[in-house]
Amino acid sequence: MSFNFVVEAPCRDADPWLFDQSNLDLAQPGLKYCQSCIFWNECESLVQPKSNAYDGIVGGKVWRNGKVLAKLDSASPHRLVVGEELVNEETATVRGSELPWDRHGDVLS
Ligand code: SF4
Repeated sequence: MSFNFVVEAPCRDADPWLFDQSNLDLAQPGLKYCQSCIFWNECESLVQPKSNAYDGIVGGKVWRNGKVLAKLDSASPHRLVVGEELVNEETATVRGSELPWDRHGDVLS
């Protein structure tokens, strides 16, 4: 697989610190880049967050210790999917205090 997408990705000139965040509050600025990105699959293939026990943002998802904490809705990328809506994913536990958005909110504007 080619990783040439990196030079075309919306985050190419962004501060890498934005993508090191696994706290949902702090992840919001990084996720805004992912909203307009067409390379979610390529990004995840490059980083392999699950096998690398990754903490941070990859492929439109917030990862903690290699598990998905939240993800952008692929059908509506301004919507963040968290908690029990995450089906068929290895999910991390989210503490209530980490949820800046309600389960159905379109909060990433
Ligand atoms: S999915 Fe997000 S982190 Fe990955 S290349 Fe696209 S904008 Fe960057």
